[in-house]
Amino acid sequence: MTGRIPIAFAALLALSAAANPSRADTFVWIDEKGVTHVTDDPASVPRAAREKLIPEGAQRASLWSDGFRGPPVRTPQGGSSADEDRIYRLLQGAVDDLGRGDTARASSELEAVLRVAPGNAEAHWYLALLDRQRGRHESAEGHLRAFLASAGDSLAPWRASAERRLKAIEDEKRLTEADSASGPLRLVALESPNFRIHYDAQLGTAAPDYAQTVVRYLEEARAHALEELGVVPREPTSVILYGKAAYLEAHRHRFSFPTVGFFDGQMHVVSAAHPAGELRALLFHEYTHAVFREQAGSDRPFWLNEGLAELAGRESRRQLGLSRSEREALRRRIDAGAWLALRRLAPGFAGLDDEQARAAYLESTAAVLWIEARTTPQERARLLAELGTGMPDDEVLRTVVGRDTEGIDAAVRSAILAEFPSTAGPSAPLSGGAGQMP
Ligand SMILES: [Zn+2]
Repeated sequence: MTGRIPIAFAALLALSAAANPSRADTFVWIDEKGVTHVTDDPASVPRAAREKLIPEGAQRASLWSDGFRGPPVRTPQGGSSADEDRIYRLLQGAVDDLGRGDTARASSELEAVLRVAPGNAEAHWYLALLDRQRGRHESAEGHLRAFLASAGDSLAPWRASAERRLKAIEDEKRLTEADSASGPLRLVALESPNFRIHYDAQLGTAAPDYAQTVVRYLEEARAHALEELGVVPREPTSVILYGKAAYLEAHRHRFSFPTVGFFDGQMHVVSAAHPAGELRALLFHEYTHAVFREQAGSDRPFWLNEGLAELAGRESRRQLGLSRSEREALRRRIDAGAWLALRRLAPGFAGLDDEQARAAYLESTAAVLWIEARTTPQERARLLAELGTGMPDDEVLRTVVGRDTEGIDAAVRSAILAEFPSTAGPSAPLSGGAGQMP
């Protein structure tokens, strides 16, 4: 990592990073009557609708990162059946949840639509976007095909978009290029049963065993996740490894600070030409995010997601739990009234400064250690699966762990206070603690 910003921070930003819509050549817009229009001339779009323009350009990045836009939900006509009303309510609820970023709940509502109406085009559309975002590429492809099979003429613009998305998935499967829209990055494809890997061709030239080493690290990350979380993604995970320069070329525009990796449905990581423990820890960390999002359908609660990833990365380096100096640093934050409530960290770490971000990772790690001491891997698998049903976080935590967010927060703080009863703690600053976070 070039900076002191934890890379885990990057996963958060990747979600909200706007795609670069320049050179998009076709726009979709929806008028006040809910009718969808397609144009290649943005100037022809009424001013009021212009801010809602949906770039449908040829750039692959914008194909998938334009948010969860899709066909408008049509109100049922008079005399509609109970099933039609239910489908309408579920679809509208899903679209509203997507707007709020509640992807897990939206996903379960859309699945419920398909149980009543297996050929519902809108449900297939949104599930394709959600699955792609979860790294379930084959499932996304299936939903796009089902969408095309059932979408009528009124959805023609979305059909065209679905065709382009299918082609993009095929490209990804062919592994001919990264999802970077620019740069002469040449990638080498590598298939293994559990991973679809591409790596920067330059990486393979320095170390003859580069590919085997990467596959071994990834399999170790997978075995570790299975051991700790009791579950792994149902489809092979896509991984792209870059030399530093190529990574910056492809992804610098996404972040406002230096990063070495992120997950956006595929793992993107910077690799040294001679991979070692640093890459292994990075892969353990990012793979945990892949498992979390695939199972839970979102990245939230963020403290749980980051705590699990952080622990995985540490365990890959045989570092168990938090060091004494890190626990003391947390004690000092409690004393100083600077403890960040886990509740505040649930939606993301955005808006935290450098030092707060470091503290957020430590607190998240402490909270997950507390949970891990009280749950089996099977219970943790259940935790992720229940989050994936869209049940509220606190209800899931209470059901599986026995305490809600505040309860866990309080328990973690009292454990730290109990360990260091004296308030006259050491005075080293937090940033002087043991090691950088990945
Ligand atoms: Zn992370």
